[in-house]
Order: sequence, then structure tokens, then C-alpha cells
Amino acid sequence: MRIVVLVGLPGSGKSTYLERLGAPALSSDRIRGLLADDETDQTIHDRVFQTVRYLLRQRLELGRPVTYIDATNLTREDRRPYLEMGRAHGCEVEAVFFDVPLAVCRERNARRRRVVPEEALAKMAGKLTPPTVEEGFARVTLISD
Ligand code: GDP
Ligand code: MG
Repeated sequence: MRIVVLVGLPGSGKSTYLERLGAPALSSDRIRGLLADDETDQTIHDRVFQTVRYLLRQRLELGRPVTYIDATNLTREDRRPYLEMGRAHGCEVEAVFFDVPLAVCRERNARRRRVVPEEALAKMAGKLTPPTVEEGFARVTLISD
């Protein structure tokens, strides 16, 4: 089994990448939609990520071969639960890092229907810490643009 943690700012292309792959993913935005009927609701962060972890655990217990985590996963603290769950279930955890410049994310973000506020995007760029093997990932794949 594998867990693949996507890492990247809003607008860096995570969901588009998964759509192209047709890969099974747990998307924090989709879970916001399921819980609050609003994919943009940023007030239910804890519940959203509890749900991501709950669904991931169910998938691991069912032995699903691969699960992608479609969320920004900007910090080590955000990513640690997936590394811990991987260890607990004896499965590899890898990261895919969307190394896309803030200016490009900003431009893509402005053009889509669900726009993340400019200040929020800048703040997130400040928090972004690239994933590393040293942190515990079996491998890190770089997607640059
Ligand atoms: P996410 O927030 O990381 O999930 O980003 P999305 O996948 O939703 O992409 C944000 C916007 O950028 C969408 O309008 C996509 O169509 C566009 N986009 C995503 N990937 C690429 C890419 O590789 N090249 C270009 N030019 N646009 C992209
Ligand atoms: Mg997305």
C-alpha cells in the first residue's frame, strides 16, 4: 500500500494532476463540501482533517493499494499524521511537491471560479516547507512549472 501526499499552494495544479491521473484521492476541498455544503469553508479545518484521516484509515484497513491526499499540506506538522499512519500500517508514504512560483499560483488562482483571497495565498506561501526524504517520505517527486 502507498499513501501519496501532495504538497503545493492553491493553484499549483494538485487537483488537475490527480484528474489527469484518474487517481483515487481524498480531497480536503471535497470534504469541506460534504460537511458544510461549501468547498471554500475555512472555519472547519479540524473536522475536515479528522475526516481525511478517518477515511484514510478506513482505506488502509480495506487494503486499498494507493491513496492520494489532495490538500496543500504546506508544513511538516500538516504532513506528519500521514507519515505516522503509514508507519502504523506498514505502507510507504511518498510526497509529490508542486514547486510552482507564487506568481503563477496567483495568476491561476485569479482565473478560476473558486478564488482564494490574495492575502491568504501570500500567507500560505510563507508557510510552505518543501517535503523531504529526511522528514520520512520514501521519495519526493518534484513537479515544476
Ligand atoms: P490546486 O489548487 O493545486 O488543486 O490547483 P488546480 O489543479 O485546481 O489548478 C488551478 C488552476 O490552474 C486551474 O484553473 C487549472 O486549470 C490550472 N492548471 C493546473 N495545472 C496546470 C498546468 O500544468 N498548466 C497550466 N497552464 N494551468 C494549470
Ligand atoms: Mg485543488
